[in-house]
Amino acid sequence: MIIAIDGPAGSGKSSTAREVARRLGFLHIDSGAFYRALTYALLSDGVPEDAWEGLRPEDLDRFRIAGERDGGRLTIRVGSEAVADELRTPDVNARVSHVARIPAVRTWLLGRLHDLASATDVVIDGRDIGTAVFPDAGLKIFLEADPEVRARRRLAEQGVSDPDDEALLEEVGRLRARDRLDSEREVAPLRKAGDAVRVDTTALTFDEQIEAILELARARA
Ligand code: C5P
Repeated sequence: MIIAIDGPAGSGKSSTAREVARRLGFLHIDSGAFYRALTYALLSDGVPEDAWEGLRPEDLDRFRIAGERDGGRLTIRVGSEAVADELRTPDVNARVSHVARIPAVRTWLLGRLHDLASATDVVIDGRDIGTAVFPDAGLKIFLEADPEVRARRRLAEQGVSDPDDEALLEEVGRLRARDRLDSEREVAPLRKAGDAVRVDTTALTFDEQIEAILELARARA
């Protein structure tokens, strides 16, 4: 079974997908982590940003980006380096949506995601999973929350638990800018699949949102 969880930046997709996968014994695939790993590799390798647009899928193979299954999780590698925190820096955050809108990048990742999900049950989160990557997924969720709530959660993850108004507004601005780029791109834009179930987590606790999705998954299974 494939459970697809899409939604805007900071809606809690990855943490939700990870916990739903853990509870069901499925593999969790965070598709955004691959776009982030490629962005990190391009930056580390010093590939000039004005050359990114012209990259072809075969150019991307040389970065040797792979997802290695480790129980219910994937360890992302760039060459021999396992990367995690490196993928969430402000530099990567600011550029990842520019990388993700390059058609060759999306083609490159599509094959990888299909391979990863071919032999096992998965919960996979992203922006286009229910619309483009797995349009036949058994359950599609579109996760949403008010921008201010998303910004607060994002800042809390970064250790800022009580942000002032300015910090909050800045984070809302960053999330909105990324959502705009993701929604307005030509290839596989962020949008809700017609048959996705909308789950608004603004007023839900983490446990409540997990339960809501597990209930939908049990009903589909
Ligand atoms: O989910 P996360 O915020 O880590 O994703 C980082 C970026 O990767 C998104 O802003 C988006 O540009 C891109 N992405 C995408 N399609 C996906 C997952 C992520 O375009 N399925």
